[in-house]
Amino acid sequence: MLTLLNVSKRYGDFALQDISFEVAAGQTVALLGPSGSGKSTLLNLVAGLEPPDSGQILWNGTDVAGLPPHQRHFGLMFQDFALFPHRDVSGNVAFGLEMQDWPKAELAARVAEMLELVGLPDFARRPVDRLSGGEQQRVALARALAPRPRLLMLDEPFGALDRGLRERLLADLAAILEASGQTSLYVTHDQEEAFAIADRIVLLRAGRVAQIGAPEELYRQPASEFVARFLGLDNIFSATALQEDGRTFLDTPFGRYASPDQAARGAVRVLFRPDAVEWGHAAEATLKGVLRQRQFRGNTVWAEVEVQGQRMRFEFASRAPLPALGQPVELSFDPREALQILHEDGHQHQQV
Ligand code: ADP
Ligand code: MG
Repeated sequence: MLTLLNVSKRYGDFALQDISFEVAAGQTVALLGPSGSGKSTLLNLVAGLEPPDSGQILWNGTDVAGLPPHQRHFGLMFQDFALFPHRDVSGNVAFGLEMQDWPKAELAARVAEMLELVGLPDFARRPVDRLSGGEQQRVALARALAPRPRLLMLDEPFGALDRGLRERLLADLAAILEASGQTSLYVTHDQEEAFAIADRIVLLRAGRVAQIGAPEELYRQPASEFVARFLGLDNIFSATALQEDGRTFLDTPFGRYASPDQAARGAVRVLFRPDAVEWGHAAEATLKGVLRQRQFRGNTVWAEVEVQGQRMRFEFASRAPLPALGQPVELSFDPREALQILHEDGHQHQQV
């Protein structure tokens, strides 16, 4: 198990501050955040390529600060971590094993096992410059996994590949990590990648933790407006929470609704969940607007509805019939499910 305790690192104007989280044995944790939020910096600290200014990095409770990178037994895989061009596929996969002086027979067996695992059993003698981008990344993964790293760290490993290939490799990688019980730390700026691969996500913003949790927790309960927007939840507006007859209501730009949080008071920011509405007048609360745009997304259709001058995006099952563009529409919803009060950015729950 990897544990980070209040890890900090400063580079000029940029500061990684007080980062604490755990990667339990066999888990995959994604470090997610916009470009420049400090993901690679944090990975470099864990790898031992740079020392932290303060804080502790523990493996099974023991501080690894004194250990050089190779003695940590952590594996690394980067997007631009090139294969060795003068070695064939098996020579590349064998590299880390040679460094550890594995006996020949065991080494050969391990290389074959790794090629099988990444779906390239017949590629051992191929020169690496004849491989496709996806095959090269599979070889890089086999090379990283071969020496049985206690922790595998991947930094945007599929960033250079096109979307379809990336999704396939990601699904394969998730299966491989699961099957081998590999403990790993996966860096990405792409929330869909993080959702697809991670047991837990550490979302970073400008060097600080914005939220930690399972993918479903972040998506269902974003801790702040930043988290909501980063996850593509953009229907956010200002409202006033007020009490009437002992109950709390939200005065919003488009109507007064029961508050999902009875303790809310005064000015608040509210998220309207895109997937919590139905066409028509079915539920207790409704919203009137004009359908401005629709986008077919496969299983779902995104509908952009203009409500009181504000555009909101809602998601519907694509089998449901859609009203015509430019038409007045009515949407119904349960305010306790559809509305969420967001906390101020920087005012976040953290759990280790
Ligand atoms: P991310 O991987 O999330 O895109 P990085 O960790 O690469 O972000 O970078 C975070 C910030 O730290 C950036 O502003 C970057 O310029 C700075 N930084 C990273 N490494 C160094 C370094 N070795 N020297 C100076 N600044 C650095
Ligand atoms: Mg980076």
